[in-house]
Amino acid sequence: MDLLTRREVEGVSDADARWLESHLAACEECASYELALSGAERAMRSFTVMASASLVESTRARVHARAAQLRERESRRFLIAISFAMGVVFSTLSAWMWWKVGGWMVERFSLPSLIVEPGLVIFWLLPAIFLGILLVAFPDSKFEGSVMQLFIKDRQRGIQ
Ligand SMILES: [Zn+2]
Repeated sequence: MDLLTRREVEGVSDADARWLESHLAACEECASYELALSGAERAMRSFTVMASASLVESTRARVHARAAQLRERESRRFLIAISFAMGVVFSTLSAWMWWKVGGWMVERFSLPSLIVEPGLVIFWLLPAIFLGILLVAFPDSKFEGSVMQLFIKDRQRGIQ
């Protein structure tokens, strides 16, 4: 019986297989066990086909979700690059404006340049700070989570 089970699962040596055949011809108990086992094996096989079909389906869904996640990360990186470029442009513009306006105010109201110079730094950093707050307010994981949830919902709809 041990040999029969092993033969079905992993195979046995030629000598063992020969001995088993001669034993099965002689022993009724083991012959009926073989019959039951081959029936069970058939059932197992059809179950395996079903299992692998659903496994393929879930793997495909996982691959799709991963691809979408990577695409989103890619476009997010692009957005960050755009934001950075815009930040540099706006920072330069606002610093330049403050420098002009500040210079005019120093002349017009004879203000000390002590007020204008820190103001220049603040105006220079302001757009960068604003963009930084925006990026922190919409963290990466939130985007990825939404994509995963979308796919899980999609799968559930497909199963129903
Ligand atoms: Zn036997």
